[in-house]
Amino acid sequence: MKEEIIEKYKKAGKIAKEALELAVELTKENVKAIEVAEKVENKIIELGGKPAWPLNISINSIAAHWTPKINDETVFKEGDLVKLDVGVHVDGFIADIAKTVEIGTNNWEKLIRASEEALEEALKIAKPGTTISEIGAVVENKIKEHGFVPIANLSGHGVDEYENHTSPTIPNFDNKSNQKLKEGDVIAIEPFATDGVGKVIDAKNSEIYKLEVPKPTRQRMARKILEQIAKEHLTLPFCKRWLQKSVKGFGLEMGFRELKRIEAIHNFSVLKEESDGMVSQAEHTIIILDEPIIITK
Ligand code: MN
Ligand code: MN
Repeated sequence: MKEEIIEKYKKAGKIAKEALELAVELTKENVKAIEVAEKVENKIIELGGKPAWPLNISINSIAAHWTPKINDETVFKEGDLVKLDVGVHVDGFIADIAKTVEIGTNNWEKLIRASEEALEEALKIAKPGTTISEIGAVVENKIKEHGFVPIANLSGHGVDEYENHTSPTIPNFDNKSNQKLKEGDVIAIEPFATDGVGKVIDAKNSEIYKLEVPKPTRQRMARKILEQIAKEHLTLPFCKRWLQKSVKGFGLEMGFRELKRIEAIHNFSVLKEESDGMVSQAEHTIIILDEPIIITK
């Protein structure tokens, strides 16, 4: 991998780490989730990066893909278990980092520790030649050791230029795959632990979208939104909050409806633990080299 690209990943990682620290600091009882999202996303820009996706704020049995809508009223409450998942890119090179915090209580300390320790163990063995099942086994064992269950249908993943999810898939259980990590792979490892059955299902539509195919449309608002996506987000996820500056009010709703109808954009589902179990997550991004670089540490 070119030194220049490694530097971009490192810069994205450093910004992501700082942005996550701010998110953790702001996530307190009675604070609005949208306030945290906006401040963290602005901080990323201030530090010279771009948000690679909207800040994911997933509470309790929601595992992933929740971000506040425009004027969202969601407020953090005592006892909430909050997964904060930050994505930053520098010229398309992505850092992905997440942490779980508990609001005002200590009921889920063990669950939080389970995903964090699983991540630490996985990072220790992530190098060229390690199989993805070896990583999965380490994650699974560590989580089970704490008396919890890994979420089997959520996994870590590779990242690439303007691609937030690419191969290889990094399982959170021993999937018996012999696929090996290679020098130059950039991967996010993200163990999810739960006291539920260990599976997520699609809940309602989320506020997170991604460009599918830039299809032609006659609708003016839809065209304006597509232009903005092509200019700013390309193939990375985005949300309506981010497009308010270019298209206002009802036009924004109409444009999104049209783009969904013609399948120009994909709307992610909120992912929820099937048995309503509580969920913790921890995540870092690492460049697989002889001396691996954890860019988000
Ligand atoms: Mn993430
Ligand atoms: Mn990830």
